[in-house]
Amino acid sequence: MTTNHDLRRTKILATLGPATDAPGVLDELVRAGVNVVRMNFSHGQASDHAARIAAVRAVATRQGREVGVLADLPGPKIRIERFAEGKVALKAGADFDLVCRADAPAGDATQVGVSYLGLVDDVNSGDTLLLDDGLIALKVASVEGDTIHTVVLTDGILSDRKGLNRLGGGLSLGALTEQDKQHIIVAAGLGVDFIAVSFCRSAQDMHEARRLVKAAGSDAALVAKIERAEAIDNLDEIALASDALMVARGDLGVEIGDAELPGLQKKIIRVSLERNRVVITATQMLQSMVDNPIPTRAEVLDVANAVIDGTDAVMLSAETASGSYPVKAVEAMVRICLGAERQFDRDTDFEAAPRNLQRADQAIAMASMFLAEHIKVRAILAMTESGGTARYLSRFRSQVPIFGLSRHEGARRRMALMRDVIPIDFDSRGLPTREAARGAIRQLFDAGLLAGGDRVLITSGDHMELHGATNTLRLLQVGADGSAEGLGEL
Ligand code: PGA
Ligand code: MN
Repeated sequence: MTTNHDLRRTKILATLGPATDAPGVLDELVRAGVNVVRMNFSHGQASDHAARIAAVRAVATRQGREVGVLADLPGPKIRIERFAEGKVALKAGADFDLVCRADAPAGDATQVGVSYLGLVDDVNSGDTLLLDDGLIALKVASVEGDTIHTVVLTDGILSDRKGLNRLGGGLSLGALTEQDKQHIIVAAGLGVDFIAVSFCRSAQDMHEARRLVKAAGSDAALVAKIERAEAIDNLDEIALASDALMVARGDLGVEIGDAELPGLQKKIIRVSLERNRVVITATQMLQSMVDNPIPTRAEVLDVANAVIDGTDAVMLSAETASGSYPVKAVEAMVRICLGAERQFDRDTDFEAAPRNLQRADQAIAMASMFLAEHIKVRAILAMTESGGTARYLSRFRSQVPIFGLSRHEGARRRMALMRDVIPIDFDSRGLPTREAARGAIRQLFDAGLLAGGDRVLITSGDHMELHGATNTLRLLQVGADGSAEGLGEL
């Protein structure tokens, strides 16, 4: 009796924006299957974010769904300043200056100001600078005082406040700007479930973010956006310092070159799983659906390949935030994910995949998955306080669904991003674990999620009030009346 909704394993993130503010759209997005919404803190005021989050919470409650909220910090995105005429046409071969001065004059076809004045110290002659997601390239000829002299390499129209990247990375900017620090306080106050750090370079950046998030009273999960060359060099340590990684293909493709993206996507997903972290694949997944009701074949293949690579979640940006077909874009993702999951090769080679066991809950998760692969079970039930056990379980990419049972809504919403995990509201406090296991089976049976005869594995701890206390694994069979029985014969 499970619905398609419960059967889809890959999670969907949708970015909110003007297109999702239209009446009824948010409702339809959640009904179509959005698991987490992303609020882009580059746009809008605190009051706009608050209104959107309240709308999301209301829709989720109405539909009885766990929907996470992710606040995406702008980070130190470098931009050119404005032009006197709003835009200019640049010609290949022309000289063009970037003026790193707070009082730079309004731009024209020969020069423009830059938002990051330190850029002048970070570039050298011979460097390539990319504007507007790589649409226009500039070659640095020389640096003189506060002016970077460049030669235009490609014709193009350049307009106000377009982004600027240096090919190969190497810019000295830290990940968290003063503005980001304010955003963290706002996001914490709004009770968001995830905070994404843009342009992080190192584990230090993530530690700093963690400190600020904690100080603001939030236990939001931290997402490291991998979009700088330095982050690739420090991938392992960044993963360990974060709860989740994002393959941020937009800026990453500009800094490193688009041809490197397929390999890097696979590498980031692999490292995330090895390090027991959640991973999101993002940007331009269904880009043509900004204007069209169906995706291109190449986009279908791209989303499917991310699923086959093992991503936890796929993300929509402009497709939902400002596109003409936000609901159709989510429906397309649902369809493509379900199709790809049928072809997904399960990662159940326990010998080849040592999971770096360091904790009891990890060991229980590993043992559960081993059993789940060797005995036919319908589901794994993880009784979890923080969602940690569900996360370990879901790193195996088995095909057995994982019910993550927690009394904490924050934990349930964090589990909403994990592949194979279905968050369930369940309070086991005060019950001996044996009784809690029976109660959980009864609840899932009554909800139509388990049926008589199903075998299930249940992980739990002696003290369900403690994080990381999982130490017990049970194998039970659901009775015809929703009771639970032990079983001898396998
Ligand atoms: P953005 O991040 O959409 O905030 O730029 C994602 C990316 O760069 O791919
Ligand atoms: Mn980016």
